[in-house]
Amino acid sequence: MSPLYDYQLCCLDNFAIEARRISQRWDRVYVKKVRPLDGWLNYAALLPFDEPLPTWDKASPEIIQRVNDLWVDASANEPELGLPVFLGTDPRARYELCRQVREVLGAYVAVMNDPAVKRPKVQNEAVFDSRINDIALPLARRSLGLNGGGAYLSEDPVGIFLNCLLQTDVWNLWSCQTCRAPFLPRRPDQKTCRPKCAKIRRRRLERAARRKGREM
Ligand SMILES: [Zn+2]
Repeated sequence: MSPLYDYQLCCLDNFAIEARRISQRWDRVYVKKVRPLDGWLNYAALLPFDEPLPTWDKASPEIIQRVNDLWVDASANEPELGLPVFLGTDPRARYELCRQVREVLGAYVAVMNDPAVKRPKVQNEAVFDSRINDIALPLARRSLGLNGGGAYLSEDPVGIFLNCLLQTDVWNLWSCQTCRAPFLPRRPDQKTCRPKCAKIRRRRLERAARRKGREM
């Protein structure tokens, strides 16, 4: 049984409130628009994307604790990342959610970056690709609620993530040329996920150009 099930689940309302709070803060500091998937992309990139994460029952206590500590630290010190908010404190649940988010994003970005895959011209024409189709999703855990606005559906964290994914045009997902993490470019020529990675890429390109200049 996944720890996500006996875990005090993150509530959609809380997530929305937190996202609004962060976006209000962002509006004052940055002009950048917060997109639904941004916080999840940042969550997935908490640790190097090349590092494979086993399912929680096969993962070492050290890696589970590391993912948990990275989340705690980034949530406290980098609110602009908009990481998902949890009500529970079980490190295994945070780890497993991070693993599932990375698995899904990793599959989409691999397919998007595959030159053999072309976007169908017709919206309803499906692309069959086992990298995406074979992902085993956990059983959805949803519950109904009532608030001042009427009936609402409360989802578990994976459900909230998948809703954000569905609101995103995944054909725009790219893999960072420096750290391989999936990201949504803000400009068509953006090759890296964040300024730090852009700097590293620039330096690499400069070094390569210098080497080429010496060889000529
Ligand atoms: Zn990067």
